[in-house]
Amino acid sequence: MTEKMKNTLVEYRGGGYDGCIFEYNFAYYDKKGKYHSIFASGCMGCKNEEDLKKLPPQDIIYYKLGDKKDCNKIGETFAISNCLRLAEWFTQNNIDAYIPFVCAQCGERFNLVVQGMGIGKHGVGGIMIDYSELVCEDCHTIGTCGYCGEFVGENCLDEEHRCEFCRESDQE
Ligand SMILES: [Zn+2]
Ligand SMILES: [Zn+2]
Repeated sequence: MTEKMKNTLVEYRGGGYDGCIFEYNFAYYDKKGKYHSIFASGCMGCKNEEDLKKLPPQDIIYYKLGDKKDCNKIGETFAISNCLRLAEWFTQNNIDAYIPFVCAQCGERFNLVVQGMGIGKHGVGGIMIDYSELVCEDCHTIGTCGYCGEFVGENCLDEEHRCEFCRESDQE
């Protein structure tokens, strides 16, 4: 642990105002080993490296961003809101990171960090968020009703690309 952390995402338990509720907090060691606080909350939030070092080691998890396995773990185990928060931070700070998510429709992996693209109302870059699931742009296009523009998923559209609601109101 004396080795300098580089290009590593740090996840630790922050928040916890009364000691039992906690929120995951995040920090990042950049490629030069410099500490950046991404998100720090509550009394356990670590605005700097000294604070982090005071935490019990078992409350800290490190993810090497150069390691595909570690990156995939982020995409698979982190809450969507946290993935998006991280992707936003890396995007804004122009750091090339791989924060993958698995498309809820096709199961493909996509990187949430898209350089040069901010977070729009549809998410990061071209990635869409619907029903608190992440869906890639292709699946979103395929699964969106051509009449009302609602995303319902490919299986809920008829041959004319209509959602159930539009189909019914058409028949009246
Ligand atoms: Zn997809
Ligand atoms: Zn519709």
